[in-house]
Amino acid sequence: MSDPRTAPVDPAGSHHAHDPSDGCGAPGPASGSRAATGDGASVGEAGEVRRFWGRLGLPGLVDVHTHFMPERVLHKVWDYFDAQGPLTGRLEWPITYRKEEAERTALLREFGVRAFTAMLYPHKPGMARWLNAWAADFAHRTPDCLHTATLFPEPGVEAYVREAVEAGARVFKAHVQVGAYDPADELLQRAWGVLAEARIPVVIHCGSGPAPGKHTGPGPMARVMARHPKLRLIVAHLGMPEYEEFLGLAERYGEVRLDTTMAFTDFTEGFMPFPRHALPRLAELGDRVLLGSDFPNLPYPYVHQLHALERLGLGRGWLRAVCHDNAALLFGL
Ligand SMILES: [Zn+2]
Repeated sequence: MSDPRTAPVDPAGSHHAHDPSDGCGAPGPASGSRAATGDGASVGEAGEVRRFWGRLGLPGLVDVHTHFMPERVLHKVWDYFDAQGPLTGRLEWPITYRKEEAERTALLREFGVRAFTAMLYPHKPGMARWLNAWAADFAHRTPDCLHTATLFPEPGVEAYVREAVEAGARVFKAHVQVGAYDPADELLQRAWGVLAEARIPVVIHCGSGPAPGKHTGPGPMARVMARHPKLRLIVAHLGMPEYEEFLGLAERYGEVRLDTTMAFTDFTEGFMPFPRHALPRLAELGDRVLLGSDFPNLPYPYVHQLHALERLGLGRGWLRAVCHDNAALLFGL
């Protein structure tokens, strides 16, 4: 079930015996010119990533699901993955990009990720406002990061969500599994209303993978959407393992989207495979599927997520939309 390429990688290094800048494996006329920009970055994994979007004729990637958070919070998350805590499904989960923040943003730029997010989330009350302040500062000093904010069911949530919106937040993150709350909780209703009204997307981890939470699964989200049918929900991880139920939610509500984070990779297919018979529905929803990666916490190289999307065989148009155009439209990039 694990990807053969889970060994730590040095994306700027030369460990790829097959890599190179000789253009092999780069079919199509656009790829060579786009990938080999001569800036020295197009080697190793960064070169592979750049050749991927270059082949598609894109100006780069937009990744709606990347994690940036205060260092000590991020280190706690990494410690949790290392300890194979229950929320990870007790899986062996080597963090591929365990690097300093500046190196991580530099790496996304080397990959040609034009815009990304700072997915951060509280696991208890009294934390969201502080995380939002950090995220506002991060977005301020990181212009290619879409200003991200978060929320938790607690008194005052409507007020700080409004404040974040007024401060320019462009995307929210909610984590039903880690937060262990019901997203349909009465305390959140007015906050969801504010976000629906402002048409600000919310990336929400609400599926029951890699391990279920008390309130994960399609039921609670269906209740949220019934009350806020215009809410721009982005179902993280394609709702795994309840892929089909969440595809159904997107089919029912035109503002529901899905991110690809970790879906279709060798790692995930090993224990939560996407049902092949649902591929036509995924193709049909091609204008509402968005690239997400979980960078830096993914247990395989970044380029594997891209290749995992490509091998679905849904075509160049679908890939272009998913890897760039849908998010560019949604966020006005
Ligand atoms: Zn994530």
